[in-house]
Amino acid sequence: MTKLKSENIKNIALVAHDNKKQELINWVLENQDDLIQHSFYATGTTGRLINNKTNLKVTCLKSGPLGGDQQIGAKISENEIDVLIFFWDPLEAQPHDPDVKALIRLAAVWNIPVACNLCTADFIISSPLFKGGYERKLPDYSKHNQREIS
Ligand code: PGA
Repeated sequence: MTKLKSENIKNIALVAHDNKKQELINWVLENQDDLIQHSFYATGTTGRLINNKTNLKVTCLKSGPLGGDQQIGAKISENEIDVLIFFWDPLEAQPHDPDVKALIRLAAVWNIPVACNLCTADFIISSPLFKGGYERKLPDYSKHNQREIS
């Protein structure tokens, strides 16, 4: 199994559904000193709010319902994301639910740590593995890639 070393500067993806955006902004503000050295991508509206309300400099992709979740998923599959912080709303139906599922699925496919709520985000950011370099195991999909289809 290949291991990918995640350097001290991590690429972190930030996404929050509308009812969870304030929670994510508050989490960023509380953890700004630990986050500031890292590099950030976010879906459009989440990123704009974080850029406006915190000191982080976030690269904004498209808004989630317009393809932003899929853009982050594509980055995960290219090994361009080390951590996904995704505060999704369990109490409201989303028009882009298939994209939401796809993003969480790709994080599982590529063995990316995901925080879907505040508690997990706190666990991730306080982990010594977050602060130090971490060798993420890259799953071996060679059998899948070479499978015979008859
Ligand atoms: P948004 O997208 O940051 O553009 O609101 C988030 C989402 O719903 O995926």
